[in-house]
Order: sequence, then structure tokens, then C-alpha cells
Amino acid sequence: MATASTLRTLLLNLDGASYKAYKDIRGSYSFADFTLIIDYVQGDPFAAPSELRVQVPMAIAQFPPELFNSFSREVALRDYLTRRFGVVAKELSSRRGTGKSGLIAATGVGQEVLERTAAWIDEEGVELRFVVGLPAQGRRILGRQAAELLCEDIPDIVERSLKYANLNVQAIHRHVEVAEDADFIRQCLIEQRLVAFVANGSILPRRSGVDDRPLKEQAIPFQSPPSLQVSFDCPNGGTVTGMAIPEGITLIVGGGYHGKSTLLRAIELGVYNHIPQDGREFVITDPRAVKIRAEDGRSIAGVDISPFINQLPQGRSTRQFSTPNASGSTSQAANIMEALEVGAKVLLVDEDTAATNFMIRDRRMQQLIQKDKEPITPFIDKIQQLYHDYQVSTVLVMGGSGDYFDVADTVIAMDNFIPSDVTEAAKVIAQEYATHRQEEGGIRFGAITPRIPLGASIDPSKGKRAVKVKVRDVDEVAFGEEEIDLAAVSQIVETGQLRAIAKALVYAKERYMNQKRTLAAIIEQVMADLDQEGLDIVSPYPQGNLSEFRPFELAAALNRLRTLEIRN
Ligand code: ADP
Ligand code: MG
Repeated sequence: MATASTLRTLLLNLDGASYKAYKDIRGSYSFADFTLIIDYVQGDPFAAPSELRVQVPMAIAQFPPELFNSFSREVALRDYLTRRFGVVAKELSSRRGTGKSGLIAATGVGQEVLERTAAWIDEEGVELRFVVGLPAQGRRILGRQAAELLCEDIPDIVERSLKYANLNVQAIHRHVEVAEDADFIRQCLIEQRLVAFVANGSILPRRSGVDDRPLKEQAIPFQSPPSLQVSFDCPNGGTVTGMAIPEGITLIVGGGYHGKSTLLRAIELGVYNHIPQDGREFVITDPRAVKIRAEDGRSIAGVDISPFINQLPQGRSTRQFSTPNASGSTSQAANIMEALEVGAKVLLVDEDTAATNFMIRDRRMQQLIQKDKEPITPFIDKIQQLYHDYQVSTVLVMGGSGDYFDVADTVIAMDNFIPSDVTEAAKVIAQEYATHRQEEGGIRFGAITPRIPLGASIDPSKGKRAVKVKVRDVDEVAFGEEEIDLAAVSQIVETGQLRAIAKALVYAKERYMNQKRTLAAIIEQVMADLDQEGLDIVSPYPQGNLSEFRPFELAAALNRLRTLEIRN
């Protein structure tokens, strides 16, 4: 293998050459403490940056095995190293010429602890993947700057981020212990038939709509009502106490601005682990919980929405409902049916983002508009059937209608950001003030009808390229000639997830769409492969910017592809 000094000489010799000549540096180089691998070299200083890896043998990195001897710990340690590498890289990253010249960066991360392709660890050693903007002035190579970046800065970053001896030992242990405790609680929830847990002392509000870090001052810590309080004895941090939401139907009520949506949003993201100091590290949710909202304008392909919608004008079928432009209520019905199709066990609904006519239909409206003139069976008339027939629970924020008191198992009232258990009071009120509504939902929820997607309707090609997928931020994928809009899919939290989802769609099409497999079976196969072989399988080369995702979000992307067709 070539050495670091070979690389240095090579770079110095490239000084002043045309940018394309950088292609010669592809390959592996042995440094004193690690191996540097240059996998991909960018075509010009403005293009997507070059992709590199470092591999540090464990004899040098020296991470104690207990930091990665369980899957929870391993994922958390990899997350920690990615963050640390990113912080040090940012310090040393500087503008060294045109375009992205001088950039050094690990993949972008938020508050969630996720499995990512950026960092890997086993008994042999650590691998960290990152990008570099190879320096240039105009289109001329800056060889000396490149040598400085690759042969001095990179060793410096490795030294300060990938060697246990140089890290904050306390912080790193806490990082893996908190993640392991959170996974432990998540497992307990499922065993104890609870859908979510919010620890006392949690900080739920965020700094702003665009800053997901915890609100600093003025944040009122969470405190469970006594009747809903439970404790878990965690493997590392001891006893954690807080509010448990049981299976069934839970209503979150309270005045406007009293913290209802903030609580639900925290529960929504409780399907993921969070970093220490986030404030939500012990807000834990059943991983099969899916946020449901209205999403008018989305396309729908052959979804059986008949549990909720029937007898549309012009006799349109709702057993295999398709539209390029859904209404608020039909989109919300489709969002629910699609989530159920791939195994959702908890639905999270907020009145702020729900379609009113999908949620409620009160006595007066039932009088004025006869049932046979209203295609929608409101959610209130299906919510219990959904739990009884399919054991799917709902957590619903609803400050605007007391009609739901009749169907709720648990009612939590938010008052100045502090919850109380008002289940009994709500039941008494429901008795005293009957709604006189007619129940319109029937005895059963209805069928969750499987669909078979046609592989030919999923086309990632563009122009001469067989596969062209590109991700813009967390809400949009350019998939071949199509755009997939995922702005309403709020449980996608970082761009790396969407990158992986886009690639997994191509993988799913190539491997599993055979005109026979159901959508649920296809998604299940892909997830099983990822579990077995890791996230790298969706990419032809070692890519450092992919993050784990759930079956629900993969299905959500497929369902929003406007060309998607379903077998009749
Ligand atoms: P609601 O849904 O009941 O109308 P929100 O959840 O939207 O209320 O919260 C209203 C505002 O209060 C938001 O700006 C939110 O960040 C803030 N907030 C929420 N929870 C807390 C808390 N525990 N402490 C301080 N501020 C909070
Ligand atoms: Mg709200």
C-alpha cells in the first residue's frame, strides 16, 4: 500500500494541474496510525465533494469492548464518533480556494441517535466516512493546500476524535448508557402494553420551529400525574419515573397554547433515541407509532379507504381509491390505511394538522346532512373498532371537541404545560351532557386491503442514466423524472434517512417487485435485508451519508411517488 508520504509527494506534484488530475489520488494510503481510503474524487471544486474513509485499528483506537458490546451501545457509540469527528472536522475545515475547497465534514446529524453508515466499529477497529472539498483555485489544483488537508488535518482529526484516550470518557459512557436505557424502556413498553412514556423532568419544548435543541430558560419540566405514573429500573441509570400512556384511546385536551402539540411531537419522535441533554432522552414511544395528518394534494394509488370513505359523488370506488390530488379527508384516510398496511400499532393525530370533517361530525350536522349524503365516516366512529379489531391504539390531541370523551379510555389535560389525568371527570361530563350523536361506524373497522405495486411504475431513470435519485433536505426526493414530496411525513428527521429511503426504493424495485408480492411484503423484505446486512446494501460503494429509517417512512415515500400503480 502507498504511504502518507507518497500521497504528499503526489499532491505537491499535482499543484497547478487541471482539477481532473485529482482522479489519480484514488486509492488507499497507510498513515502512522490509520489507513486513509479515497473512494471517490469530485469532478470539479463546485461538485459534490470527494468521499473518503479512515480506518483506525483497535490497537490504536482502544475503545473498551463494553462501549459496543450490545447493539444499542454500538449504535450509540457510532453516533458519538460521528458527532465528535464532525465537530473537530468543522474546526479544521477552512476555505482553501474556490467552491467547496477545504471542506471537511461528516454526515449531518440532529438530536436523534441513529444508526448511520458514517461510522463503524468492531473488535478490529473503527471506520469513519466523511467528505472533503479538494482544494483548487479556479480549475487549478492547489497541491500544497491539499497536502496540508489530507496529510496534516486528517491525522489531527483522527487523533482528536477516534482515539478513546483523547475523548471525554464520561460523556462517551453516558451517551451509550442513555441509549441502552432508552431501548430498555422501549422494550418494557411493548411487554407492558404501553404505547409511550414521558419521564419526569423531560424538557419537551424546542428553541424554535427550525432549531430542534431544547428550549433553555422558561422551559417547564414535565411532571406525570400520579395516576399515570410508572417507573422502570434501567440497566445503567437506575430508576426512571414518568407518565405512561396505556394502549387504547388516549385524548390530550387543554386550552390553546398549553403544550398539547409539543407533547405529541415529543411522543412522535420518541420512536428514536435522543442524545443526552436533549431533554427528550427518556421520552420513549412504541417504534410502530405513526403520525397521521391531512395532506391535501398528495397522490393516492389504489388504497382501500372504504372504512372511512364511501359513496363518493360520481360513484367512484373507494375500495381501490386513486387520485392525483387528494382532499384533506381522503388524504388523511389514505395515510391511516397505508400506515396500517405496513403494521402501524399506534396512530398519533393532532387536531392542528387533521381535517375537521374527518375527525368529527356532530349531532346537528347529522341532522342537516343525512348519512347517505356524507361519504365520510368520521374517525370518532372508527377509533374504537380500530383498537378492538386490530389492536391499534390512538393518541389524539383534541382541544376543540368533547365528543371524543365517549370513546376515550384515558383523558390527559394539559394546563400550563403540566398534565393531569381527567379521565373520570370527562366520563362524568359525557354522561351528563350526552351528544345524542348517531354512531355511524358499524361494529367492525373494515378491511385493511393489501396492494400489489407494479414495479414498472417505479422508474428511477432520467435521461441516459438508469438511476438518478437526489435528495433535497428532509422533505423532497428527485426520483428519476419525478419529485416525491415528503414534507408531511414528519417522522423523517434527517437527510440521511431520506437518502437511504430513496436508494431503498430502487433496491426494492430491483429485488422484490415481481407483480405478485404485496407492498407490505416488499417493505418487510427490504427491512429484513437491512437488519441482516446493514445499510450499506442499498449503495454500490461505501457511502457515509445514509441513516436508518423505519418501514413506515419507506412505505410513505413509495406511496407518494406519483407514478405508482397498483395491480387490479
Ligand atoms: P397547544 O398545542 O396546546 O396549543 P403548543 O404545544 O403548541 O400548545 O405550545 C405552545 C407554546 O408553548 C409553544 O411555543 C411551545 O414551544 C411552548 N411550550 C410547550 N411546552 C412547554 C413547556 N413545558 N415549557 C415552556 N414552554 C412550552
Ligand atoms: Mg396545538
